[in-house]
Amino acid sequence: MSSAPPPAATGERPHAVCLPFPAQGHITPMLKLAKILHGRGFDVTFVNTEYNHRRLVRSRGAAAVAGLPGSFRFAAIPDGLPASDADATQDPASISHATKHHCPPHFRRLLAAAAAAPVACVVADGLMSFAVDAAREIGVPCALFWTASACGYMGYRNFRPLIDRGIIPLKEEEQLTNGFMEMAVDWAPGMSKHMRLKDFPSFLRTTDPNDVLMTFQLGEVERAESASAVIVNSFDALERAALDAMRAIIPAVYTIGPLGPVAEEAAVPSGGGPLDAISCSLWREDPTCLAWLDGREQPRSVVYVNFGSVTVMTGEELAEFAWGLAGSGHDFLWVVRPDVVRGDTASAAALPPGFAEATRGRGLLASWCDQEAVLRHGAVGLFLTHSGWNSTVESLCAGVPMLCWPFFAEQQTNCRYACSTDEWGVAMEVGDDVRRDAVAARIREAMGGGEGREMRRRAEEWKEAAVRATAESVANLESLIGDVLLSGK
Ligand code: UDP
Repeated sequence: MSSAPPPAATGERPHAVCLPFPAQGHITPMLKLAKILHGRGFDVTFVNTEYNHRRLVRSRGAAAVAGLPGSFRFAAIPDGLPASDADATQDPASISHATKHHCPPHFRRLLAAAAAAPVACVVADGLMSFAVDAAREIGVPCALFWTASACGYMGYRNFRPLIDRGIIPLKEEEQLTNGFMEMAVDWAPGMSKHMRLKDFPSFLRTTDPNDVLMTFQLGEVERAESASAVIVNSFDALERAALDAMRAIIPAVYTIGPLGPVAEEAAVPSGGGPLDAISCSLWREDPTCLAWLDGREQPRSVVYVNFGSVTVMTGEELAEFAWGLAGSGHDFLWVVRPDVVRGDTASAAALPPGFAEATRGRGLLASWCDQEAVLRHGAVGLFLTHSGWNSTVESLCAGVPMLCWPFFAEQQTNCRYACSTDEWGVAMEVGDDVRRDAVAARIREAMGGGEGREMRRRAEEWKEAAVRATAESVANLESLIGDVLLSGK
């Protein structure tokens, strides 16, 4: 594949160019939206970075990617990072810097090359806001897709007042450990009254006013106003206050969530046809997970553990989780991503000696799975998660309560909302400092205790609320298509 092939020319259908931020948690929802747009009559060009395109081909097989209809095709642009054949998540700071500074001219060239199938609209990730200018230059609308939570968005927007009040950047490193982060922040627009400084997106945990991730995220969320519209994978009943606050800042906000099988079926009742075969996993899914779950006799008896595509931890933390799972006495399905341990290329090898024997017959380890299918499986009773937004939404849609160990970005905010009984009330926290006894005790409480029963009840309610939200989200999608994507401006 050349770095910027001319987008498809298949005839009369309007042509949408979809540009995800190059990370799994962004590619997944963008591909879901792209498939829906395709089902609603658009030609789609889906633009990955070359690095991720290679990984997608590896995980899905070249035939699956090449066998798509001509009206849906992948293109790839370079990310400017050193060439690599690795199969691992790229460092978030490097990729943020690289996309902002390296991708724009390549993306412009890709749009310019589309003379044969002129582009009708651009749908770009909220962290690829350079696409707004690129789309404006060719005179088409650009909708930015914010793939994280609305509370996460407002969490970042509140960096500005936190800066103005002199709270961030931190004055000294010690503030991370001396109790300063416990400060109540009950005044932040659009946010829960129960926020503490430590519940805001983790990128404020810096003393450097020029910190790459803090400045990048703040710049990107503030640029959302310049887009033709902002799309959010959420729904009003779940995040009313944050969404209202977004609407007060951004003129056109379209909630189309929760994206998932129910929404996809409602939006495109005829199904995706050949596109059904293409999923978005950058790692190859282990097919044994679902069969193993089928073999569990008790419903809701399994703890599913997965920290997503970016989280890394120390070998000691991995060992504490391992012994916590062992000590809980419950069955578990644990997805140990090959690169989850910092600086280790084979994380499974870092599992403590004796763990396999101690848990024989009640645990399955895998390296990647079809998470949505796993969460919907009746054998799963609890999700030990890093609180990424896709994982959180997928868990809510499946009615599965959570045990949260947020890693970075707006995961801290998602965790606060998930755990707070005044918000979603579906989760409890592991605590920053992972301890095996606490992990085991929380799993037991969540699986069988009174608090766990209440979390499950609330999770079931959210599952129903998510289904109820579908009609509104499909109507919003219609408006998005008619009023923005096909508006020609
Ligand atoms: N995922 C998956 N299989 C896995 C782990 C993750 O399919 O073994 C998917 C998961 O369903 C979700 C995405 O990868 O859609 C992860 O996104 P999220 O926002 O939860 O976290 P991130 O990876 O961005 O930290």
